[in-house]
Amino acid sequence: MTPMIPKSHPRYASLLVRDRIVAGVRKGVTSPDGLIAHGRGEAFDYLIGEKTQPFAKSSIEAAAACLLLTRHPVISVNGNAAALCPKELVALSAVLGCPLEVNIFHASGKREKAIAACLMNHGAKTVLLPGKDAVLEYLQSNRKYVNKEGIFSADTVFVPLEDGDRARALIRNGKKVVTIDLNPLSRTAKAATVTIVDNITRALPLLITRIKMLKKKKGIGKMGNRQLCRTIERYDNKNMLAQAERKMRRR
Ligand code: ATP
Repeated sequence: MTPMIPKSHPRYASLLVRDRIVAGVRKGVTSPDGLIAHGRGEAFDYLIGEKTQPFAKSSIEAAAACLLLTRHPVISVNGNAAALCPKELVALSAVLGCPLEVNIFHASGKREKAIAACLMNHGAKTVLLPGKDAVLEYLQSNRKYVNKEGIFSADTVFVPLEDGDRARALIRNGKKVVTIDLNPLSRTAKAATVTIVDNITRALPLLITRIKMLKKKKGIGKMGNRQLCRTIERYDNKNMLAQAERKMRRR
């Protein structure tokens, strides 16, 4: 904990978020390697002024449309995402009516269970774990094992803070990938169908609010769906990544 940090500290919000990831490691939810991934994220966040930028808002709009139009979306959760936003991940699964599935880079049955317990403590009813009977193609690592009712049969996978190999493999397995990644140059950011270049702690609440609003305003009827399709058709992920990179270079 960093209780000595005054609220007026310019890095206050960032330090509080850092505390969450450190607590995640202590609880066995996040791997120590997750701290390094978080540090990389912090550096890119610094370069966008630690604020949600217009390009991220456009990507949130496209992500909401993509997730709402999908027949079977699944939320893939790793140790960093679980430590930073457990409540929001559960809320997203509730608003979409879709499963949460644990999938981690550094294989550990113990940590998979700790992540599932963390999500259950924040209100998740069920959390899927990888099984041995459903395997993704084009992946060599342990991460190829997925849940048959979850990622294996999903048409869109929401997978924040992902590594590039897996994002690419999901695409090659015919799935759409929606990600949140502060690094517009990462392989994940480039491979994904929709990349929100923003901090997960800011982007996820905005995404949930947007999905709720769209569900309420348009309903998920024919008219609403046509508008959502148009949002996706007009969306250009490469352009959003280029805008993010330009913003960072200017700073
Ligand atoms: P890739 O394999 O996709 O080229 P990488 O090897 O950097 O990228 P990882 O370290 O596996 O990928 O994934 C972490 C990614 O998540 C990094 O791109 C990092 O910038 C990003 N990241 C870390 N913390 C956050 C956060 N709080 N919000 C959004 N993105 C984050």
